[in-house]
Amino acid sequence: MNPTLNEPDSPFDLALRPADFADFHGQTKVKEQLLVMVEAAKLRSESLDHVLLCGPPGLGKTTLANLIASAVGSRLHTTSGPQIERAGDLAGILTNLQEKDILFIDEIHRLHPSIEEYLYPAIEDFRLDIIIDQGPKARTIRIDLPPFTLVGATTRAGMLTAPMRSRFGIPNRLDYYTIPELQHILMRSARLLNVPIEEGGAHEIARRSRGTPRIANHLLRWVRDFAQVRAENVVTEAVANQALTMRDIDETGLDEMDTRMLEAIIHKFDGGPVGLGSVAVVVGEDASTLEDVHEPFLVMQGFIKRTPRGRVAMPAAYRKLGLMPPVSGQPDLF
Ligand code: ADP
Repeated sequence: MNPTLNEPDSPFDLALRPADFADFHGQTKVKEQLLVMVEAAKLRSESLDHVLLCGPPGLGKTTLANLIASAVGSRLHTTSGPQIERAGDLAGILTNLQEKDILFIDEIHRLHPSIEEYLYPAIEDFRLDIIIDQGPKARTIRIDLPPFTLVGATTRAGMLTAPMRSRFGIPNRLDYYTIPELQHILMRSARLLNVPIEEGGAHEIARRSRGTPRIANHLLRWVRDFAQVRAENVVTEAVANQALTMRDIDETGLDEMDTRMLEAIIHKFDGGPVGLGSVAVVVGEDASTLEDVHEPFLVMQGFIKRTPRGRVAMPAAYRKLGLMPPVSGQPDLF
């Protein structure tokens, strides 16, 4: 798996995180919908409706949660599904909220089902029912909560339970960024980091960034070092190309695990259809990571296709590995 995808945010990431919506480039539809919601909440002086952000890692879910909080002028409390282990943890977080505060729960699909049960009344009716003691002495205490906004983020919208999904309005889906969008983000990052960069240099980094701003920024950091030591400090197209080739960064942005998935489907399963679980065994990675992080990018790039019977390698995948696609040009899908 790409090592830059799931690392916690470094001071470097934080320095580049957009501070307002104007600096958040791309994801136009999601941004517009959120701005309408924020404006409406402000006009009515109400707390913002709950928001669900879905999409692969590194596309800006945490950034958007921060932007929402600052746009409505509220405090942001950040946690994640796996961090909330007991009902008491959740109670501690909820009872600390003030009116209109934003509670950001990352990886919300990983909340324990028993915790979810506590969360439903909290987000629906702003109350928390806590059970105290066990057995015959057990009793429920009801705590009223101030109206707050839950912003949930998930890489796996499909894994959210139906009751949880229904508590949110329309989910906001973040897509991979286009090369021009990433180029724009890179030019901004370079400005903030005082890195002299040419458009061609930014374009070269953008097209190898797997559609992901977090990766783009990380690659920029490496290219900046390279430019300082091996070139005359300026990130030109040629310098970016040399720097990224030196690190074996693929020209279409595929990382090592993406390539291994394609190799497995083509070489071990005759191009598919094959279930993701079988591919996971061959490549030695968790099936859910393949589904979260790798598959969406490979589908988006046209390398694989999901069919009712499993994943199928497309002609582009064969060409990527230097192979001839099957004679029909299209593997047998059904
Ligand atoms: P996620 O929560 O989806 O994993 P983050 O919000 O942590 O992603 O984003 C990762 C990094 O990418 C951020 O630190 C930020 O610098 C950068 N980033 C993400 N989206 C954008 C964007 N639209 N414009 C500029 N930078 C972005």
